[in-house]
Amino acid sequence: MEKNTESKNLKESLFSKSKHAAYRISADEKAASDKFAEEYKTFLNASKTEREACSNAEEILKSNGFVPFEANMTLKAGDKVYRNNRGKAIIAAVIGSAPITDGVHLCAAHIDSPRLDLKQNPLYEDHELALFKTHYYGGIKKYQWAAIPLSLHGVVIKADGSSAVVNIGEDEGDPVFCVTDLLPHLATEQMKRSAVSLIRGEELNILIGSLPFNNDEESDAVKLNIMNILNEKYGMTEDDFISAELEAVPAFRACDVGLDRSMIGSYGHDDRVCAYPALRAIIDCQNPVNTAVVVLTDKEETGSDGNTGLCSSYLPYFIDDLADCFGAKGRHVLSASKCLSADVNAAFDPTFPDVMEQKNCAYINKGVCVTKFTGSRGKSGTSDASAEFVGFVRRLLDSKDVVWQTGELGKVDGGGGGTVAAYIANLDVDTVDVGVPVLCMHAPFEVVSKLDVYMTYRAFSAFVE
Ligand code: MN
Ligand code: MN
Repeated sequence: MEKNTESKNLKESLFSKSKHAAYRISADEKAASDKFAEEYKTFLNASKTEREACSNAEEILKSNGFVPFEANMTLKAGDKVYRNNRGKAIIAAVIGSAPITDGVHLCAAHIDSPRLDLKQNPLYEDHELALFKTHYYGGIKKYQWAAIPLSLHGVVIKADGSSAVVNIGEDEGDPVFCVTDLLPHLATEQMKRSAVSLIRGEELNILIGSLPFNNDEESDAVKLNIMNILNEKYGMTEDDFISAELEAVPAFRACDVGLDRSMIGSYGHDDRVCAYPALRAIIDCQNPVNTAVVVLTDKEETGSDGNTGLCSSYLPYFIDDLADCFGAKGRHVLSASKCLSADVNAAFDPTFPDVMEQKNCAYINKGVCVTKFTGSRGKSGTSDASAEFVGFVRRLLDSKDVVWQTGELGKVDGGGGGTVAAYIANLDVDTVDVGVPVLCMHAPFEVVSKLDVYMTYRAFSAFVE
């Protein structure tokens, strides 16, 4: 054998290979990926908040034979159940053929996304303009949220206990809202601020009206006009804002990005881009060996606290209740369980290469990303999956020809972040982060690759099957 042929062959067998997914899939798979992307975009456009994602997920589950879980149900292999947690989080399960004490295969994704929440006393008039005060939710670059169309979603609980669902700005012909910004001509002083305060938290005020009620010269007539419109539409008074959850999100719809239409741009990919593939995986899961469980959770973007977040007990309680149905103990089920913490990772951006260590970051189109650890500053705040468990996931993905890559969240000491992985691992579950690489993460318009989304669905399917 020639010397250079020998090196070439040896390289082929010893070095790791990382390739664009397009080189590694069939034409059929490409077509399946494009079809999946269309279905995902439909889900995205209808699911801009955790409540909408939860109720749409529930509808999809119900129409695919899932029934509400009840304590002490008689369950057998193939049965499909779900539990809706307060309309903001949902757990679905397909009972496996193996004993429950062999553990469940759990995919956990979140359905909340960064946004602007209305304060509890939001409505005011200033110089004959009506505005809403907001408090941003999750980690945002505040300046990105000015001068873009916003829609308003949520629920109002009125004085008599009845509720009104709000959704304005999504339908063709609906009005939209916006946070105003200064014109460059008069922004000399503003542009001297650091980017953190280019738009300050208390400047995230949403413009909602400018006409006085009845053309009356009464003070606060513009505010009165808005309150009157809200009263006619939802039967609400100003005090009802106190018991409301109203969220302003980007009003634009998911669309293809690129002349080659290879990518999807949208608000809220993080983390519906993992939640939707996880949901689809459990719907397509027919006869799993281990019981398959998908949890779509709330509150990840604010640290997972609260009774709809994964720091609460709602997931272990569900596992307890499921174990009870088989006369088993929940903790024995958890200790034997495996989890893919399904969340996005940052994709390499050639415009900002400095934040990444290019041998260990995730790339658009190189498939679903497996992240062994997250956290920051010396792996602080991470669960750091074991070599054994990463080995299990690796074998699983390779055996099903899933295109995947590994990726760390940015350079060492470059920043960092966490996911729900640590909270699930803390329940004594083997857990690793697996998800889609995203460009412009947490911006009002995030970008993912269609092939990566599809490979994420394939990974979750392989795991729950
Ligand atoms: Mn996320
Ligand atoms: Mn996030």
